[in-house]
Amino acid sequence: MTKKIAVLPGDGIGPEIIAEAVKVLEHLRTDGLDIEMNEAPVGGAGYEASGKPLPDDTLALAKASDAILLGAVGGYQWESLDISVRPEKGLLGLRAELELFSNLRPAILYKQLADASTLKPEVVSGLDILIVRELTGGIYFGQPRGIRILENGEKQGFNTLVYSESEIERIGRSAFDIAMKRGKKLCSVDKANVLECTELWREVMERVSKDYPEVELSHMYVDNAAMQLVRAPKQFDVMVTTNMFGDILSDCAAMLTGSIGMLPSASLDANGKGMYEPIHGSAPDIAGKNVANPLATILSVAMMLRYSLNEIAMADRIEKAVENVLDQGLRTADIDSEGMQKVSTSEMGDAVVSAL
Ligand code: NAD
Repeated sequence: MTKKIAVLPGDGIGPEIIAEAVKVLEHLRTDGLDIEMNEAPVGGAGYEASGKPLPDDTLALAKASDAILLGAVGGYQWESLDISVRPEKGLLGLRAELELFSNLRPAILYKQLADASTLKPEVVSGLDILIVRELTGGIYFGQPRGIRILENGEKQGFNTLVYSESEIERIGRSAFDIAMKRGKKLCSVDKANVLECTELWREVMERVSKDYPEVELSHMYVDNAAMQLVRAPKQFDVMVTTNMFGDILSDCAAMLTGSIGMLPSASLDANGKGMYEPIHGSAPDIAGKNVANPLATILSVAMMLRYSLNEIAMADRIEKAVENVLDQGLRTADIDSEGMQKVSTSEMGDAVVSAL
């Protein structure tokens, strides 16, 4: 049956990198991939089209699709808008509406890019970790929230960190399932010494672990985890953590690999439907210049084929094609180094298609 893919380019470099990912999908279509692609605006583009960062038609399309491929959202021109209609609300709305609670963020260091990392090659070479971030709960969604005026006239900002047992259990199971398919080591990251909410997190993770006797579960406070990620990152296999801690730690892990432009991500619901996107933002500083690295988005397509469309062989082919272009010495500006051949966004996309 034809699989439906919602293509949401978004803002900034979003349309440029998505165009390269679509080239890859179009090529695979000629090889028998049975897909239908439909494009819609989201983020700032959604706001311009309909006054909403997540237009009703875009949400309906996403709900009716088997998978969603997203570029990135955001830009300077929308920063002064009310928070309720800022581009990021489009992304948060999609995650919440589609119940995409499990965010998979791999940090893999390609051997060809070992020099691109700011860490010593022996600390990072061969790095292969996966951070599982809870995506629809925690402090980014907790109520009450806001900015209020105190009796003395001073303003006070407040947010709420809240997790129910069932929310912790489902992200825990998602992470244990993934750990079973990898090195069977899971590190749960919390701040149980200070935050009651994550004391409960730790308790539930321990409980869930009883159903996964083969997985070695450990716990780490988030401040130590940040330190260990830059000190000895290869000690980790799978890490599971809350929405905000995962947001921060996965960007830190991303930098271990040298470029934010290389890392894909997947956000899954309970049935394997997913939204796939690079971990980076809309990079307004380089938008429209044809210099952005499209590989994170192309690797997001590989994750989509693997986790939502069950086309494992095609996913492997894309990942091998990316290795191939790196072996050829092709580099976008963000990963360029001496002796390599610098290429544009579209040249990199073309090279991946040729390698396929
Ligand atoms: P960013 O990830 O957009 O950019 C950080 C730095 O990395 C910039 O120097 C940028 O040029 C570079 N960069 C990012 N992607 C790259 C790529 N593919 N190739 C080469 N270089 C790349 O983060 P930011 O600057 O903090 O945020 C910019 C905008 O993006 C903001 O509006 C922010 O809200 C939004 N944002 C969106 C998402 C998302 O859509 N998922 C995530 C993070 C930030």
